[in-house]
Amino acid sequence: MAIIVQKYGGTSIGTVDKISLVADKIIVEKNNGNDVVVVVSAMSGETDKLHNLAKIINPEVKGRELDVLISTGEQVTISLLALTLVEKGYDAISLTGSQAGIITNNVFNKARIESINNSVIKNYLNSGKIVVVAGFQGVTEHGDITTLGRGGSDTSAVAISVALDAKECQIFTDVDGVYTTDPRISPGAKKIDHITSEEMLELSSQGSKVLQPRAVEFAGKYDVGIRVLSTFEDGTGTLISKDNKQVMEKAIISGIAFNKDEAQLTIRGVPDQPGIASLILGPIAERNIDVDMIVQNVGEDGLANFTFTVPRNDYKEAKKSLLESAKNFSAKKVIGNDKIVKISMVGVGMRTHAGIASKMFSVLAENNINISMISTSEIKISIVTDENNLDTAVNVLHKAFDLDK
Ligand code: ASP
Ligand code: MG
Repeated sequence: MAIIVQKYGGTSIGTVDKISLVADKIIVEKNNGNDVVVVVSAMSGETDKLHNLAKIINPEVKGRELDVLISTGEQVTISLLALTLVEKGYDAISLTGSQAGIITNNVFNKARIESINNSVIKNYLNSGKIVVVAGFQGVTEHGDITTLGRGGSDTSAVAISVALDAKECQIFTDVDGVYTTDPRISPGAKKIDHITSEEMLELSSQGSKVLQPRAVEFAGKYDVGIRVLSTFEDGTGTLISKDNKQVMEKAIISGIAFNKDEAQLTIRGVPDQPGIASLILGPIAERNIDVDMIVQNVGEDGLANFTFTVPRNDYKEAKKSLLESAKNFSAKKVIGNDKIVKISMVGVGMRTHAGIASKMFSVLAENNINISMISTSEIKISIVTDENNLDTAVNVLHKAFDLDK
């Protein structure tokens, strides 16, 4: 019997009626003769609501108690879904992350899954049950509840698929697949049928909200196929897999992602000598803040400028850390801007085609869009610009690279 893992996001299970609809889809899969494991998010908006409650007490709330709180959203939906399945005549059981044996490290609010004891889920499957598991959560080896970072139930679903050697990991959401860019910005955006996990990882890391980047990373590493599907419409969705045979013949650029949740920090006039970068970024990493783009200019008169981006949520804390570093090596100035956006073009075709970056820059220049930072990888070019430029930049690039065709 094949094992199918299905994940339903918050909008798919936002009401009891929608949960009933989801239950029907699960039943179809079960009646097809498969073993079905379902991973669910909290009802849409619930995790934010819980988080906001804690923020009333402490606007910068973090850590263990926050996880105890925000993990409860998923405990509501697993129970409601299991109850619905039972009501429809199917044997089902709900499991929290801890009950399902999902062991994580102890980095609260951003924990990583370390192992899954698959015997728990397997035993229930073997007894004919549909198993409903809470996404987004796990437990440390000491029994503390953890969460996996926002959007983390995607990662739960992929990790469970790996642990059970599932045939496919189906991620059900409110869109019918992955698009060349956000259709709300570019109405000409097209659904992608098949994309490599490598490209999807870049798109997700660069701001595409469809899947949590960690989920894609996990799937690529263990070679599990993910299919993104709509809960509300029939269709084949988007397949994300390692294999890129079908992808080879298509466009050079697969998609354009953007990220409005970033901020930029610059420290000016730091000594141009070995070890400075690690002295600046070390304290930031210690605070568990992810640094993304990093640019250091060529030093002049023994001094250099150092610029990098961090998540907008971490802007204040990163700035504080930077101001401390600035004192330590008497830097001239710390400046920051949290009204920026990062726009990234992604495609494996970049490996074999030259001139993509220069075309991107000239298209932006023709539209009077000023670029403040640039970074590239083998299959990605990212730029940082003022957030007011977002719509225009995405639209002109989408068109210039024929993504609307
Ligand atoms: N409920 C969590 C969130 O809103 C996890 C998820 O939906 O994937 O981020
Ligand atoms: Mg999500």
